[in-house]
Amino acid sequence: SIVVTGATGHLGRLVIEGLLEKVPADQITAVARSEEKAADFAARGVKVAVADYNAPETFDSVFSAGDKVLLISGNEFDKGRVGQHKVVLEAAKAAGVALLAYTSAPGSLSAALADDHRGTEAAILESGVTYTLLRNGWYNENYTENLAPVLEYGAVVQAAGEGKVSSAARADYAAAAVAVLTGEGHENKTYELGGDTAWGFAEYAAEVAKASGKEIVYSAVPVEAYIGILTGAGLPEPFAAILAGVDASIEKGELVVTSGDLSRLTGRPTTPIADSIATALKG
Ligand code: NDP
Repeated sequence: SIVVTGATGHLGRLVIEGLLEKVPADQITAVARSEEKAADFAARGVKVAVADYNAPETFDSVFSAGDKVLLISGNEFDKGRVGQHKVVLEAAKAAGVALLAYTSAPGSLSAALADDHRGTEAAILESGVTYTLLRNGWYNENYTENLAPVLEYGAVVQAAGEGKVSSAARADYAAAAVAVLTGEGHENKTYELGGDTAWGFAEYAAEVAKASGKEIVYSAVPVEAYIGILTGAGLPEPFAAILAGVDASIEKGELVVTSGDLSRLTGRPTTPIADSIATALKG
């Protein structure tokens, strides 16, 4: 069967929905931290396995020989994500799965945020398991789900200078994962996934202005100032530093992906940032 970890997260839910359109529900296993959170999947015939990256024994009977597995990277930055991901990797290897796909980060990304992904990729390669690396670029939603302060202050505040991002909607990355899990020929491949079009924050501000009818400017600030703004808004300092590091990478062009892998895998153009802005403003 096809097994998806992080199935109750934003990306995981989209992957399960995409799989349900292609394969019978009883061939899909959603791995969740709580049964209740996955109750809607179970009601539709999807198998549910309860397991936690922090508790290796909970993965003992999750996988079977021949399974195709999607390991969705975790979000507990303070818990050692490489170790967490290795728990899944080792259980998958022991079971003899056919494929382990992993949601990574662009190969060009040097920011600290990418360290856990590089560490996980190295462990996967070393394990000898058959893999697919889905090096996901940035989500449109990283920005469009945080429009409230932009609309309130009339400013997009980032520390990315004139740098550009080729982002795509979460749904696009989910569709790529579904294509890999249900298709052929993805063994031991590394895909650099990103949106078809790269945009800068001045363009982003202009798009938000157009869609909202408000005056919105891009305010490019230095990295240190950005960390101060984020901590002032209540973010813990280490997390603020990680986000600021991403902006520094954006300024250097490290989140521009030009491979075309994402639209090739999904067979459709990626979702423009303007579409995600419109969706967010409607929501
Ligand atoms: P979410 O935060 O919505 O989902 C994270 C998922 O990981 C959740 O299902 C969560 O479970 C699960 N998870 C976290 N810790 C554990 C654990 N200890 N054991 C088992 N499961 C765990 O993120 P998204 O779905 O939006 O994105 C998926 C991943 O992609 C993120 O976790 C992150 O690594 C990465 N990411 C990528 C971005 C990009 O722009 N490319 C932006 C943001 C994140 P539960 O549902 O129980 O909470």
